[in-house]
Amino acid sequence: MKGRSLEFSYEFFPPRSQAMDRRLWRAVGQLERLNPAFFSVTYGALGSVQNVSVETAIAMQSESPVPVAAHLTCVDASRQQVDAVARDFHHAGFDHIVALRGDSSPNGQLTDGYQNAAELVEGLLKIADFDISVAAYPEVHPLAQSASQDLQNLKYKLDIGASRAITQYFFDADCFLRFRDRACKIGIDKPIIPGILPVHDIDKVSAFSQRCGASLPDLYISQFDKVKHDPQAQYQLSVDLAVAMCEQLAAEGVDQFHLYTLNQTDLCLDISLALGATTQPVKVGKAA
Ligand SMILES: Cc1cc2nc3c(=O)[nH]c(=O)nc-3n(C[C@H](O)[C@H](O)[C@H](O)COP(=O)(O)OP(=O)(O)OC[C@H]3O[C@@H](n4cnc5c(N)ncnc54)[C@H](O)[C@@H]3O)c2cc1C
Repeated sequence: MKGRSLEFSYEFFPPRSQAMDRRLWRAVGQLERLNPAFFSVTYGALGSVQNVSVETAIAMQSESPVPVAAHLTCVDASRQQVDAVARDFHHAGFDHIVALRGDSSPNGQLTDGYQNAAELVEGLLKIADFDISVAAYPEVHPLAQSASQDLQNLKYKLDIGASRAITQYFFDADCFLRFRDRACKIGIDKPIIPGILPVHDIDKVSAFSQRCGASLPDLYISQFDKVKHDPQAQYQLSVDLAVAMCEQLAAEGVDQFHLYTLNQTDLCLDISLALGATTQPVKVGKAA
C-alpha cells in the first residue's frame, strides 16, 4: 500500500512448553522490528493456563519496547479473582486491557462473577482508568440471540467505556465492510480493528473456524487444495490472500490491522511488509 501508513498489532498466546517459549520470543523479536501499535497476549485461550498468560504478558511488557495489551476474561471466576488480576496488571503498569467474557470450560462452575464482557468493562474502569478493547464479531457470535442483539452488545461495551473493538477473524473483506456499515448505522463511532488470521494450516483453520463461527470461503479451500503438495506455494497463497483482503479493506479506509500470529513469525512478517510495514534495527534482549 504505497502512500498509506497502516498500523499493525500482533496477538500472541502464552507458551505451554520450553520449545513454544523459544518460538514465542523469536516471534516477538522479529515482529517488534515492525514498530507495531501494540502486542497483545491472550488469557486462558487455546487451553493455556491463566497464570502463564499473566506471566507472559508481564515478561513481554518488560522485555519489549512495544506497548503490550493484556487480555482478561471473566468466565468461571469470581469478581474478586478477576479484580485481583486486573489490579496486578495495573500495578505492573498495563494501560491497555482486552476485556472478554471468555468461553466457559466443560467443568466450569456458576460463579458470582462478571456475567459478560460489558460487566467486566464496568468493573475494570472502577479499578483504573484502563484503555479497553473489546471483541466484535463480523459474522455474529455463535451464541448470540441475533445479529442485532450482538451488535447492540458491542455498542453497549463501547458506550460504557471501551475505546475500540477488535474483530474475530474473517476471510471476506465484504463481510467486515458490511459489519462496519451496520455498526455505523446504529451509532458506533469508535474504531473497529479487523482481526486477520494468516492461514498457517488450512485443515486446522477449517476445523477451528467451524467452532468459532467464521466462514472459510469455498474458494479458499479449493485454492489451497490445488497446492496441497507444495508447502512453498501454500505459504505464498496464504500471504497473497491475506494481503489482497487487507488491501481491499485499506482501500475502504481501514488503517489498522490486528494479526493473530499463533506465535509464528514468517507469515505475519511477510504480510505486514507487503502492506508497507518497514523494519527497524534489531535490539538486544530476550526478544531479540
Ligand atoms: C479479539 C478477540 C480476542 C479474544 N481473546 C480471547 C482470550 O484471550 N481468551 C479467551 O478465552 N477468549 C478470547 N476470545 C474469545 C471470546 O472470549 C469468546 O468469543 C467469548 O465466547 C465471547 O466473549 P465476548 O467478550 O465477545 O463476550 P460478550 O461481549 O459478553 O458476548 C458476545 C456475544 O455473545 C453473546 N453470548 C456470549 N455468551 C453467551 C451465552 N452464554 N448465552 C447467550 N449469548 C451469549 C452475547 O450476548 C453477545 O452477543 C477472543 C475473541 C476475540 C474476537
